[in-house]
Amino acid sequence: MRIGIIGAGQLGQMLGHAAHDLGVECRFLDPSVSPPAAECGDVIQRPFDDADALAELAATCDVITYEFENVPVAALQQIAGKVPVFPPAAALRSAQDRLDEKRLFDELDIPLAGYRAIDNREDLEAAAASLGLPMVIKSRRFGYDGKGQFVVLEPDDIDKAWNSLGVQPLIAEQWVPFDFEVSCIGVRNADGDVRIYPLSRNEHDDGILRVSRAPVDAPELSNSAADYVRQLLEHLDYVGVLALEMFVKDGCLLANEFAPRVHNSGHWTIEGAATSQFENHLRAVMNLPLGSSASRGHAGMINLIGNIPDAARALTSAYLHDYGKTPRPGRKLGHITVVSDSAEDRDALVSKIAESVTQSTSGPETVT
Ligand code: AMP
Repeated sequence: MRIGIIGAGQLGQMLGHAAHDLGVECRFLDPSVSPPAAECGDVIQRPFDDADALAELAATCDVITYEFENVPVAALQQIAGKVPVFPPAAALRSAQDRLDEKRLFDELDIPLAGYRAIDNREDLEAAAASLGLPMVIKSRRFGYDGKGQFVVLEPDDIDKAWNSLGVQPLIAEQWVPFDFEVSCIGVRNADGDVRIYPLSRNEHDDGILRVSRAPVDAPELSNSAADYVRQLLEHLDYVGVLALEMFVKDGCLLANEFAPRVHNSGHWTIEGAATSQFENHLRAVMNLPLGSSASRGHAGMINLIGNIPDAARALTSAYLHDYGKTPRPGRKLGHITVVSDSAEDRDALVSKIAESVTQSTSGPETVT
């Protein structure tokens, strides 16, 4: 069995490690020179939409998947007739456009904050009047880690928002003064079996995930989040891992976005769950029985952004994952996971590690 993976970044690398453990070969498509996943298999070094490269990947692999959501949908459709491609193109299409994504949440009765499509400056004025301020303006497509976003705090900001983001399809969203953020990761195989991981609580800074902790001790929130993920998986006839990111306000969930792929907020599952999200994604796309998604203690994950300080390498009670990327401000270079017997021990360890590794890891520029 050989799995073709479009994208060879750190998510591809962690899929590659899981594939190795399952005795499965991987082949990647990625235009970068020496991407992180190169250590896990052959990389076809061509653009993601290169027709010949996609045809070669399809001809030499038993199933194709992808590790990031900006893969051109047309590229997937080009190969879908020749080899199974998971997750399905329809899921990728919805996740690539914030307006389609929010309409899908509406259709499935998954609660979310108010939003409006913005096609011109007048729409911005109308959105401010109907949604109220603050509101956040986002590009509908190709946004990630808070890029392509503008917060309109007062009417004077409307011009600034339009000048900085205009001339592309936009969406306005009500600002959610959330209590905290969570994500729920689910996986479904082609037989329709589903596993849902325990809810993660996530801290972002500058739009970038910094820390995740799981499981969240909130049974009602967890059950609602699991229901929403199940609805998405079933509605999309989904195969693979899907992550739903949500805000929590006054004990209620509001969906923000979903990712049709393995997700940074699920990295803790490598050591903190019975089966990692990476192994279960591979099991799903190969239509093998899924492994248990139960947690194995109280996990915490700290992203290493910008550099990997010596302090991270000196840790003994934690698992360091170094993706082998060249350091650059704002770049995700690795992560650290801890697994403790209690939430209190986990939180103490996370605070200590976060303090020691984040002093020299911040930076405004972001490259995944
Ligand atoms: P996104 O690219 O939509 O995932 O946004 C990145 C981060 O910006 C989120 O994880 C939140 O921390 C923050 N954010 C995005 N949209 C909103 C919103 N409507 N209200 C409050 N915070 C938001």
